[in-house]
Amino acid sequence: MYVLSYIYIKDNRNLKIVVLKFGGTSVADVPQIKKIALKIKEEVELGNKVIVVVSAMSGVTNNLIDLVKHTSDFPPYSEYDNVLSTGEQVTSALLAIALERLNLRTRSWLGWQIPIVTDNTYGKSVIEKIETDNISTSLEHNEVAVVSGFQGVSSENKITTLGRGGSDTTAVAMAAAFSADRCDIYTDVDGVYTTDPRIVKRAKKLDIITYEEMLELASQGAKVLQARSVALAMKYGVNLRVLSSFENLPGTSIIKEGNNMEKSEISGIAHSLNEAKITISGVPDKPGQAAEIFGSLAQFSINVDMIVQSSSINQKATDITFTIPETDLLTAEKTIKKIQKKIGFNKFTSETNVVKISVVGSAMRNQSGMANIMFKTLAKNQINIHVISTSEIKISVLISSDYYELAMRSLHSAFGLDI
Ligand code: ADP
Ligand code: ASP
Ligand code: MG
Repeated sequence: MYVLSYIYIKDNRNLKIVVLKFGGTSVADVPQIKKIALKIKEEVELGNKVIVVVSAMSGVTNNLIDLVKHTSDFPPYSEYDNVLSTGEQVTSALLAIALERLNLRTRSWLGWQIPIVTDNTYGKSVIEKIETDNISTSLEHNEVAVVSGFQGVSSENKITTLGRGGSDTTAVAMAAAFSADRCDIYTDVDGVYTTDPRIVKRAKKLDIITYEEMLELASQGAKVLQARSVALAMKYGVNLRVLSSFENLPGTSIIKEGNNMEKSEISGIAHSLNEAKITISGVPDKPGQAAEIFGSLAQFSINVDMIVQSSSINQKATDITFTIPETDLLTAEKTIKKIQKKIGFNKFTSETNVVKISVVGSAMRNQSGMANIMFKTLAKNQINIHVISTSEIKISVLISSDYYELAMRSLHSAFGLDI
């Protein structure tokens, strides 16, 4: 679901290509942009062909979302994407200007100019194809290609975006399409940690992590890499690293399973703030109701994550609680209202001050033991659990957002991950 269905891979064997991606804080203002221009110059001087992918300046995408929200609750999806894509347009052009000042040959590229072709799922489009001809010609002319991250173009010739954090996916997709030697993700931390180092000061920096472990952490909310970018890197064997834009440190390499002899049981703890909880009460207890509810949400590509259904006391009605991305809440509420008459439930409520905390690890052999530690730790800290979900590789709980930092710190410690 998250991966490219097809990338046109050109034979670039005689070019050593590197992809460098700079996130929002790395391009936060003009001095910062000038600073990364110097870093890019160093790569060019090493004799590499350089493709740079940039995010919008930090905070800009949120501001653009606010502008759209103040205009309409239900904007046309493609216009929403058109507004959001402008953040990356500004930074790619500014960076090209900064590089030109350093006497480097360069030009900026918007998604449609390359083109990066996506499907028509606006707001969370999937890349279908990257045409390599234009950028290859540019690289052959020794230009630094500065690509606006996060965006593409649909078959309807409209601008699309790849979901929050999507510039990571642009970078990895470009690295795959151009068979790049490496794809370096420059950000505001010096690598991948056992949990978010901004919240848990005792988080441990990892020198290496497998694609699988990184995918789990990212899928559960560790936003240091967009989950789709990790899935793509794994599929195409992209040589991926996470590094600091601000300090010259070694970073974290994402590697193949089997190369990590010291793989530990728990990869880390992830949190996701972008959750909304919906409870539908008094759903008639008969076959087909869940299919009706979740089918109607699927029509709008709304991913339902955690689900619990209470057992009906009188065999007549049940309550169904589930979580969805907060960004889909308005559409979900509108959809559920529409089917209320058909299903005949009593009412529904929604809540956004919830956070999902997940303990993840593909080597989690003793899941019940892990669940026991998790629940005991939360209980000891008086933290109430709203919803639980488990899989072979993770245990997730939904809790009130008031307690998520406490939960992360105490779980990090309880699982023996503290430095
Ligand atoms: P960028 O703007 O560079 O894309 P992001 O804000 O998207 O940066 O991602 C970097 C942030 O990810 C860090 O500042 C950190 O707070 C957060 N983060 C969450 N989980 C982790 C983790 N396990 N390791 C490192 N950083 C993490
Ligand atoms: N600017 C987009 C966002 O804030 C994409 C990105 O930064 O990766 O989500
Ligand atoms: Mg990011």
